[in-house]
Amino acid sequence: MKIGFIGLGNMGAPMALNLLKAGHTVNVFDLNAQAVQSLVDAGASAAASAKAAASGVECVVTMLPAAAHVRSVLTAEDGVLAGIPKGVTIIDSSTIDPATVKACAEIAAKHGNTFVDAPVSGGTGGAAAGTLTFMVGGSAASYEHVKPVLSAMGKNIVHCGDTGTGQVAKICNNLVLGITMAGVAEAMSLGEALGIDPKVLGGIINTSTGRCWSSDTYNPFPGLIETAPSSRGYTGGFGTDLMLKDLGLATDAAKFARQPVYLGALAQQLYQTMSMRGAGRLDFSAVIKLYRTDRDAG
Ligand code: NAD
Repeated sequence: MKIGFIGLGNMGAPMALNLLKAGHTVNVFDLNAQAVQSLVDAGASAAASAKAAASGVECVVTMLPAAAHVRSVLTAEDGVLAGIPKGVTIIDSSTIDPATVKACAEIAAKHGNTFVDAPVSGGTGGAAAGTLTFMVGGSAASYEHVKPVLSAMGKNIVHCGDTGTGQVAKICNNLVLGITMAGVAEAMSLGEALGIDPKVLGGIINTSTGRCWSSDTYNPFPGLIETAPSSRGYTGGFGTDLMLKDLGLATDAAKFARQPVYLGALAQQLYQTMSMRGAGRLDFSAVIKLYRTDRDAG
């Protein structure tokens, strides 16, 4: 298939690489010329704009920082819609709000194009390994149509329902994650302050009802889990600012739905405090530093 790919950042670059590896022809565009060059070196064709990247392709994938970027890449004069005929499907894998997805889908539909939301989980490791989970929002027919493309970049391609529900799944999952991480950080710090060996406490939690991914795979207490960012100075994981962005999406969507998110709003303030203190680029599990200010937080 001939595919246009726009947004070659930490996630987009390895995803586009996997499309090439699967034998697709890929036209790439990014504002960062170096990112484009790396993909060209791997066999992609460079385009001078989103419009050019979308010209002559059967499908377009966007992987951009936030909603404003997605909207502008779609609708700008030199954007995707200006470059494609009717019938070409646009897959957006960025994490953005469901309302923007619906607005983009309406704009695309007026041009005779389908816009599918397909945000991902699995992080940069999953993007490189081609094992991402895609949460797809759109009609059953659109899902079937995009599945072969997404399968080159992910292992688990899930149809979540109508347009926007992929993003709903993504932000609800990260709402749980932001809250559970803060909860584990709080409990581990309290245990330490009360004098229990953190290793013993971690072991108890991980074989008891407090067990969760934040405790057994990604424990925020340094030195408990060798492969977790907490054991390497909170580097190379899922950034605090990205978690903050996702909790912002959850609280905004909650406002729209008139639905309370008590714990999500509180968790958002914890990560915001971390960001204010200059820890926005650290892994989000560094939130434990809020509880261990006078101790060695690793
Ligand atoms: P990133 O900032 O590394 O990459 C974004 C890329 O988009 C950059 O290369 C930037 O130059 C490019 N870009 C921005 N505006 C553009 C425009 N107008 N035209 C063309 N290119 C443009 O971000 P990322 O980590 O790759 O994340 C991308 C999306 O995936 C985000 O929405 C993020 O929330 C989501 N996500 C990230 C992770 C992760 O672990 N990094 C995991 C899951 C989901």
